[in-house]
Amino acid sequence: NSEHDQEHALLFPFMAQGHIIPFIELAKLIHHRRRCTVTVVSTPANVRALTSSFPSTPTFRLVPLPFVPTHHSLPSTSESSDTLPTHLFSRLLHASLSLRPAFSALLLDILSSSAAPSRLCVISDVFTSWATEVADALGAHHAVFTTCGGYGTTAYFSLWQHLPHARTDAEEFSVPGFPDSFRLRRSQLSSYIREADGADEWSAVLRPAIATSLESKSMLCNSVEEVETTGLRLLRNYTGLCVYAVGPLLPFQGDKKSSYKRAGKAHGISVDACLEWLDAHPPNSVLYISFGSQNTISARQMMELAKGIEASGKAFIWVIRPPVEFDIGGEFQKEWLPEGFEERARQHARGVLVRDWAPQLEILSHASTGAFLSHCGWNSALESLSRGVPLIGWPLASEQFYNSMMLEEELGVCVEVARGKEVERVVREVMGEERGAEMRRRAAGVRGLLEEAMREGDGEAKGSSLRAIDEFLEVALSGKSE
Ligand code: UDP
Repeated sequence: NSEHDQEHALLFPFMAQGHIIPFIELAKLIHHRRRCTVTVVSTPANVRALTSSFPSTPTFRLVPLPFVPTHHSLPSTSESSDTLPTHLFSRLLHASLSLRPAFSALLLDILSSSAAPSRLCVISDVFTSWATEVADALGAHHAVFTTCGGYGTTAYFSLWQHLPHARTDAEEFSVPGFPDSFRLRRSQLSSYIREADGADEWSAVLRPAIATSLESKSMLCNSVEEVETTGLRLLRNYTGLCVYAVGPLLPFQGDKKSSYKRAGKAHGISVDACLEWLDAHPPNSVLYISFGSQNTISARQMMELAKGIEASGKAFIWVIRPPVEFDIGGEFQKEWLPEGFEERARQHARGVLVRDWAPQLEILSHASTGAFLSHCGWNSALESLSRGVPLIGWPLASEQFYNSMMLEEELGVCVEVARGKEVERVVREVMGEERGAEMRRRAAGVRGLLEEAMREGDGEAKGSSLRAIDEFLEVALSGKSE
């Protein structure tokens, strides 16, 4: 028993891999720093997948909240965004609101039990921020955790709250919360935001979620002061909240049996097979390609990408998911790629196509991986930089456009590729001797800062993110004022 075992942190991620993974890592970090009780709630299928991912964890408890996807016109097995075509994402967001009564009951239960905690703090996702209202009504402390970076969160919040593109016909416009010199182009917006007018189904759920997030007592951010100095300043100014940068929260590594699995699905390739394949290649020679857990490109773009990689002559590992026009759970089809592409790739071990899900951090950690062609989801970006691997940005949705821009313009560790065109040129450049070497040097610099932020120690020797999480926990669980 520790001096803090009467304290309880209750975490509530939205049901998407890019949210669940950093939330679980936050749960572990909180337990590691404080030895208090930590609980993570989710829906039954996500809890089952997490239980099987971590057979021997428990530094945290997993609690399922009842959820029946078909009651929300979702496919019967769909409890997270990676099992859904993009046009159904907003339905999952709406469906998550139905968890509120069960969540309230759970909180009441915890607070009225004979072993009630001395302090309870609810940490919710931005998308499930109504959980902070429930906590507030019951007198519990609360905070939101944004799984995006400071810069991306600010851009995302501001765009949804102000819809600046809907107020002008101009191709370029300024965004409230950013310096006037910062201009966005309409073409950089993801289609949901571009088409949003405030009365659409995305606005209906996201705008209240953001407004409630801004009412929470404080915000945790999966970022690092020394890496995103400008982004975190913008976020603090925009939200007016006390923002604790506690990143990088990276997927657990080190035990091959306990890596994250997608609900009900194993990796499309074993970790051993993947690493063995990489072992046979020289340092920095392999391009890793993935668009994250929930996004994909069009069939035409997939064809162009394949041709571009082949023309670049670089070795690659490509995590391939059905293009947007096809059933997300459907079988792999040869027609998506140029004729004979996979066979040619297999010859001379030039490339591997991984169906659906790969051990990403293991791949990025391997010395042979030289660059990551990524949609620039924030977790992917952090994972890549934590291993000193530069990026080729192909942003598709959410705040990925702003991540890619920040990574390119501020950190110099990314080059954006133009939608399937220019793949060959950009791959050669990023994996080449001149710009490539410079980008790797910069990425190694960022890697150093990410590692520093998590350095154990006392006083000034302690990394900035550990200082921030300790400070947050004092406020949230000891009642120290902010
Ligand atoms: N991921 C993985 N294997 C895959 C695809 C994704 O392990 O084949 C993990 C990845 O390491 C990251 C998360 O899923 O931790 C994806 O989060 P990100 O923010 O990059 O993108 P999202 O999926 O939310 O768009």
